[in-house]
Amino acid sequence: QAVREPLMARLKALESVHWRAEPTFPGDTPGEIAPITMPHDLSAVVGTRRDATAEEVEAAFARAANIQPGWDALGGEKRALLLEEAADLFEAHTDEFLSLCQREAGKTLLDAVLELREAVDFLRYYAAGAREQFGAPTILPGPTGEENSLSLHGRGVFATISPWNFPLAIFTGMAAAALAAGNSVIAKPAEQTPLIAALAVKLCHEAGIPPEALQLLPGAGQVGQMITAHPKLAGVAFTGSTETAQAINRTLAGRDGPIATLIAETGGQNAMIVDSSALPEQVVRDVLASAFQSAGQRCSALRVLYLQEDIADPMLEMIRGGFEALNIGDPASLATDIGPVIDPDAQARLERHVARCLASDRKVTRLSLPPGVEKGCFVAPTIVEIGSIRDLSREHFGPVLHVARFRASELGQVVEDINESGYGLTLGLHSRIAATRRFVQARARVGNFYVNRNQIGAVVESQPFGGEGMSGTGPKAGGPHYLARFATERVMTID
Ligand code: NAD
Repeated sequence: QAVREPLMARLKALESVHWRAEPTFPGDTPGEIAPITMPHDLSAVVGTRRDATAEEVEAAFARAANIQPGWDALGGEKRALLLEEAADLFEAHTDEFLSLCQREAGKTLLDAVLELREAVDFLRYYAAGAREQFGAPTILPGPTGEENSLSLHGRGVFATISPWNFPLAIFTGMAAAALAAGNSVIAKPAEQTPLIAALAVKLCHEAGIPPEALQLLPGAGQVGQMITAHPKLAGVAFTGSTETAQAINRTLAGRDGPIATLIAETGGQNAMIVDSSALPEQVVRDVLASAFQSAGQRCSALRVLYLQEDIADPMLEMIRGGFEALNIGDPASLATDIGPVIDPDAQARLERHVARCLASDRKVTRLSLPPGVEKGCFVAPTIVEIGSIRDLSREHFGPVLHVARFRASELGQVVEDINESGYGLTLGLHSRIAATRRFVQARARVGNFYVNRNQIGAVVESQPFGGEGMSGTGPKAGGPHYLARFATERVMTID
């Protein structure tokens, strides 16, 4: 109580701030201006976004290309110090970030706190990586009389294109990695959440990262398209939907200039398998968190729950019991478990999906929305019974959980069907049988396999995160191999 009440009062005081996101170096002719409204109350304006124009994109590339060799030559140690200073400043601005995560992205306080923690962890982890991997060259063995050494350098100008669902952590993580590796960065945040990104960039500049080395270019997909089509681009770190990653891949393939690297982290059709040896209370807790925390708007979120036939009815009853106790509403209230979805488009897409499920006579359980949420983008949390993951052709990014049943003898087929979806992000398993764990692990083509726990909430450094197939290119964010993909290797041979 002693911490909570003053914090809530400080967050309340920040509600009067009007935030702004604009290109780091605004040009003479301003681009379009759009209001940013709260997902849980579309009548409340949090700030404004000024979109980057074609001229501003061009000028940003010229500046970024100009500064990059100097930024690279600074070396890993100096870049690490700047990133660590940024991490400290992020922590010092906790209130502003929590307020923006709630008001711009509709996050609950718990989600906002976790998000800030992850952003700070990314800054410190990639700073440590810069120090370790971008320091003195590695001396290589060679013929007598020769000295061979290998060093890592930035590739050039890197674009980072980020989603709205982790508007701070993913935005910061990709930019920090690209900077740590010696690239200059052009950062395009999601159109829904540019204000959080603008604060993050401002603090990075205050920490001493040159503004030319980290430039913000707000805007929608067209701005991302202009950036990815630019001939000076050396690489793109993208997180978002599979469809957009495929569009970026096509843009990169069609342009002249250097062959750009694409690091993509995309969507998932994540399943959890629960067998009859699972502990029911643990399953209920983990299913509800995996499917409904953050209103299901996590790439790792549970979409398809497979229950072993023998336990399916009692387990589903217990899950429904926990489900009915969830609180939906204003993310600023500490009692809220589930806030809004991001915007009216997302809301309409999810409602269309639920309507199709109802029309096809699937068993659907929905919570009722409380009064007072009409001005926001709320979707009633929903459980839909389906035959198998094959009934779903795409990711449904929100609080909708699909439930299927399987017989013990069908476990191999279940894993095969999950693989056949083409996605490969997270998979959960609740089983106390070690042989089942080994069986599933040996067959499942997923990036992150979580056993007897929820499948959201990867921890930087401990649980590097990312998928395969339609879920991403790898390497995993927050893992030991990530920075190398942002870098190029140079070998020097001295006779
Ligand atoms: P999105 O693909 O709609 O947008 C992501 C970004 O791409 C935005 O900044 C957008 O403006 C930009 N963009 C859109 N069209 C573009 C184009 N043609 N060229 C260049 N840029 C373009 O995704 P979203 O709705 O913001 O985010 C939700 C999606 O992100 C979900 O599919 C989710 O699973 C995925 N996601 C994946 C991970 C992961 O780590 N694998 C993490 C978070 C979110």
